[in-house]
Order: sequence, then C-alpha cells, then structure tokens
Amino acid sequence: MPAATRTWAESNPAAAARRVALHDGTVAEAEAELECALDDVDRYIVAFSGGKDSIALVIRLLELGVPRERIELWHHLVDGKGARFFDWPSTLAYCQAFADAFDLPLYCSWRIGGFLREMLRSDTPTAPVKFETPTGPDMVVGGVGPGGTRLRFPQVTSDLTVRWCSSYLKIDVAARVFTNDARFEAGRFVLLTGERAEESAARARYSRTKPHGASTRSRIVTQWRAVHGWTEAQVWAAMQRWRVNPHPAYRLGFGRLSCMTCIFGNDDQWATVKQLSPDILYLIASYEESFNATIDRKHEGVLVRANRGTSMIPPGLDELAKASQEETFNEPILVDDWSLPAGAFKHTGGPT
Ligand code: SF4
Repeated sequence: MPAATRTWAESNPAAAARRVALHDGTVAEAEAELECALDDVDRYIVAFSGGKDSIALVIRLLELGVPRERIELWHHLVDGKGARFFDWPSTLAYCQAFADAFDLPLYCSWRIGGFLREMLRSDTPTAPVKFETPTGPDMVVGGVGPGGTRLRFPQVTSDLTVRWCSSYLKIDVAARVFTNDARFEAGRFVLLTGERAEESAARARYSRTKPHGASTRSRIVTQWRAVHGWTEAQVWAAMQRWRVNPHPAYRLGFGRLSCMTCIFGNDDQWATVKQLSPDILYLIASYEESFNATIDRKHEGVLVRANRGTSMIPPGLDELAKASQEETFNEPILVDDWSLPAGAFKHTGGPT
C-alpha cells in the first residue's frame, strides 16, 4: 500500500497496538479515537475544570505519549471575574497548582461578569468574552449582540438551549477562543472534554469524537471525549496512579466538582452549601423570590432543601471547609499518602 494512503495506525502498528491496548472499548472505537491521536495535531486542548474527569483527560494524553509541549489547559471562570456566585473560590488556584505541577500552560477564559451578569440580563446584550493568551494582553470579543432579557436561572435539564450556564459560560466561551485567537487561525486542534457515558443516559449517547463547530477550511478542530468509556473507578485509579490530590470539594463529600451551587444540587448539597457559605445560599434564595421561580422548578426553594438535607462534610474537616472558600490552594498537588476522598462514588447532582 502506498505510504500516502496508509492510516496512522497502519503506518505505526506498534504504537497503534499499544494505544488500542490502553483503550477500554472495542478496536473500532479505539481506531476512531486514534484519529485524535495523530501526530500532526498541533495542540491538544483540555477543557480543564479541576474536576476528576478533566484530570483523567490529562492523564490519558500523557499515558498515550502525547508530548507535554503540545498540551494546554483551558479553564472557564463561571463567575467571570465578577461577584462570587456559583464557583468554588479555591478552584482557580487548584487548577493553577495542577498546571504548575504537571508543567502545562493554563489559560483562563470567561464571559465578563459570568453567571450573575448573564442571569440578570434585562434588555441588554450578552456580555463579551475575555480570554488569556500566551503573550498577553487578554483579548475581549463579542458583546455587541441584540439586547435580551433573562432574569431567571438556567433550567435543570440536559437541553443546552435552556440550560444556558453550560452553553453561555463554557461551550461558547471555548468556541470564541478558537475563532479569535490568532494561534488557532490554521492547523489541526483537538479539544478534549470529560463527559463520561456512565454519568447519565444523555451522556451515554454522546459520540466520542466529533467535528467542533469552530472548524473552518484551515482550522480543523475535533472534540474528543477521551474518557467517555471510563468508569468512575478508572478515573479514581488514574488519579491514584499519578498521586493527584483531589480538589477539596471531593474531600468535603461532593461526588462532582462542577459549580459549588450547581443548579442540579440535591438537598444534601444545599445543606452543605449552607454550612460552607450561608451568604451565597441566601443570595440564591433571594433571586428565587424575585424571579418567583425556584432554581429547580420541580423542587422547593434552596432554603427548604438545605434545611431538609444533611451536610456532606465529614467530621473534623472544618479547616478544609474554610480553606475551600478562599481564593488559594496551599496543599501539594502530588501526594504520597493518596486516599479515596469522601465524595468518591457518591451520587451528587451535576450537569447531565
Ligand atoms: S456545573 Fe451546574 S451550574 Fe455550573 S455551569 Fe454546569 S450545569 Fe450550570
């Protein structure tokens, strides 16, 4: 067969066999994923929340042999550098500490004003997106669309057209970076995202690879759900293999990192939020009152739910609980005495 018509796997049988062996699914699935592991990919971009699945993506790339020089982490700031509202205050510092420990660049991007500004939009356009670049200064794009009004929480559904937090604060923000940062004008890029089939029926139906909407003739972007077939046990095993200290949220009993006050929160999560940050809980309750709608329309308001639930924070973790509410992370990322956190294998609410 002429070299030009060979696939990467045919030209690199040993490496392909190794990569297939690393995969948990069928050979056909593995070959589809190999399309994302071609050596001509310019950048592997990991959508990095600091959660266990995004860390598993990094580990998967490194274990596949992708050079660190071709990997970068993108972190979307849900509160958009505005008033604190949904994010864990310590998450950004945790992500930076992880990036430093793994010697990978971390670039932040956000919709200015974040969740709160978008939620309180009243006959105004959606705010611009701002993002960091390797050489600075930060770039600002958009914000000149038609006026519109929200004055409501995102809906608790897998439908991203009405669950606007995921689409406006994360998915669209990433697309704006691709389409506006000159680094991505031309070339082949892979965006890794951490949805796993095990998380929900909706996520089980997601394809593992798909062309990203930011692609053009010269900019080829593929989205790769590189741990889609992994179980939660595999994710924690990867964290243990690499001795990664999980984000404080997991040690405080949360099964998922996501936003501290995620709209999918259950009663116990709201009770935990009440213990961690009562001011934020009361702020959310005040918006439920002014919108005349609870954050989860199928349930009572967050105050009722917090009072009905039980805090998930294990005894003796008062210091960690306090530290999780600071904008710092003062622990090592790589630890020798690794142990499963309290939130492992616990079902808590998060995006589906
Ligand atoms: S974690 Fe929850 S609240 Fe935050 S963006 Fe995702 S779905 Fe929305």
